Amino acid sequence: MTYIIGEPCIDIQDRSCVDVCPVDCIHEANRMLVIDPEECIDCGACEPECPVEAIYPEDALPEKWEPFVKINYAYGEGMDVVNELVESYATEHNVQNPPLDQR
Ligand code: SF4
Ligand code: SF4
Repeated sequence: MTYIIGEPCIDIQDRSCVDVCPVDCIHEANRMLVIDPEECIDCGACEPECPVEAIYPEDALPEKWEPFVKINYAYGEGMDVVNELVESYATEHNVQNPPLDQR
């Protein structure tokens, strides 16, 4: 099992999760961060840190964010692949997450 970062992280990227990860497995893509499922030890430390509730255990990820399983796992194929998948998801779903200071 692993943790998955979903849609709310897109264009937010405040990195609160990065500081608490004991194995440094949260990596920065162009428009969001992703968790490397190979490195994640499933400790759950990152989940409560996220101000926009973007982080879920894989088996509890809301169904509407299913594409983010593929997006996080794509880390293994390189960030270019992650970036392409995020870009096409954001376009298809017209993602416009308001900045944190406008909530
Ligand atoms: S669950 Fe733990 S190991 Fe996995 S990304 Fe979060 S903080 Fe890192
Ligand atoms: S804490 Fe949440 S919004 Fe911030 S970088 Fe991590 S997953 Fe993205």
